[in-house]
Amino acid sequence: LVSRKTKAADTVITVGPLTIGNGSPVIISGPCSVETPEQMEAVASHLKKEGVVLLRGGAYKPRTSPYDFQGLGVEGLKLLSETAKRHGMVCVSEIVAPEDVEMACEYLDIIQIGARNMQNFELLKAAGNVRKPILLKRGLSATIEELVYAAEYIASRGNSQIILCERGIRTYEKATRNTLDISAVPILKQETHLPVIVDISHSTGRKDIMFPIAKAAIAVGADGLIVEAHNEPAVALSDAKQQLDLPQLSNLLHDLRTSGFLK
Ligand code: PEP
Ligand code: MN
Repeated sequence: LVSRKTKAADTVITVGPLTIGNGSPVIISGPCSVETPEQMEAVASHLKKEGVVLLRGGAYKPRTSPYDFQGLGVEGLKLLSETAKRHGMVCVSEIVAPEDVEMACEYLDIIQIGARNMQNFELLKAAGNVRKPILLKRGLSATIEELVYAAEYIASRGNSQIILCERGIRTYEKATRNTLDISAVPILKQETHLPVIVDISHSTGRKDIMFPIAKAAIAVGADGLIVEAHNEPAVALSDAKQQLDLPQLSNLLHDLRTSGFLK
């Protein structure tokens, strides 16, 4: 169902004021985790001013260690949703349990399935049963084919509003958190009709190469970018090292716009 052979035309996804997959790349930004009302307000008001309308923030955090911040759960979804609405924005957040997918539809405009859950088949089926766009991230060690099959699980249940996300894969290289597989973008665009975005934060895990990586992603055809931003990255409860502060995010957007990579 997600194959180009089945449907030649690009799938274009409309979320509130935003169109994803129409050839004009979109920016998804916000903190790694939803933490406090003050944090969400600071980030959202800044993003809105910068023309970013898709707000992200994790409420169910799939952390490597059980002793790390696990997210605010449904309170986090509410806070994200209220903040987005107040600013005329739309929002996306990760859901990790199949039984939470329907509940999440009340708060979210896009439901994210994270890398660690790309092959959680019950979660994929649950995502296929709702009528909300799904942002499906590539698994840490998943092949492109496995990502496409994961998307097919969602589509097979009747939900073809799927956005694929390349977020880096595990290799022996340690200079970046993951290795961004840039060739996945044109391959996925060629083999499927779905929009494809690139997460430049979780793939690289560093902030000093955001501009060239963002340009590379857009140059190979990405329909959007995920970039984590926080009002005070140094004290963020997760991914403190990779989140841009708000002036850094502004600089990135400015550089992408003046170089013609972004509208
Ligand atoms: C995220 O986007 O919040 C996240 C945890 O990313 P990933 O699933 O790609 O690791
Ligand atoms: Mn993160």
